Formats: sequence, structure tokens, C-alpha cells
Amino acid sequence: MPARGTPSPVRTCRGCRRELHAPSDVGWECECGAVVCSEADCFEEYFKHVAGGEATRCLTCGLVT
Ligand SMILES: [Zn+2]
Ligand SMILES: [Zn+2]
Repeated sequence: MPARGTPSPVRTCRGCRRELHAPSDVGWECECGAVVCSEADCFEEYFKHVAGGEATRCLTCGLVT
């Protein structure tokens, strides 16, 4: 029986809770663990384009990448 509580390798969109199995499903991801799918609505809820779209700010931790 598999142990419970082990971290799942499957990430989940913070916006719509969709499971992101393939790397192409991931719209954007931050070091702090925030990850969203490629839906614009989900992206805008947790991230913001800055510097004219050349950089992205994470609204969870404020990191600009
Ligand atoms: Zn989503
Ligand atoms: Zn972050």
C-alpha cells in the first residue's frame, strides 16, 4: 500500500485546480510554488506581465522573472 503524504509530482493549477500532467499544460510557474495552467484567466489571477510584457511578476511572492 503506497504511503500517504508523499508529495505528488502532479502539479495543480491554482486558478482552476486542473491537474497539469504535461509540461505544455503549465502556463507559468514560480519558485514559490505558484503554478497556473495556460488559461489567461488563471494566469491573470496569480501573475502579472510587467515591463511591457518582457517580465512576469508573481502575485503570491512578488518575484519578477
Ligand atoms: Zn487554470
Ligand atoms: Zn512566487
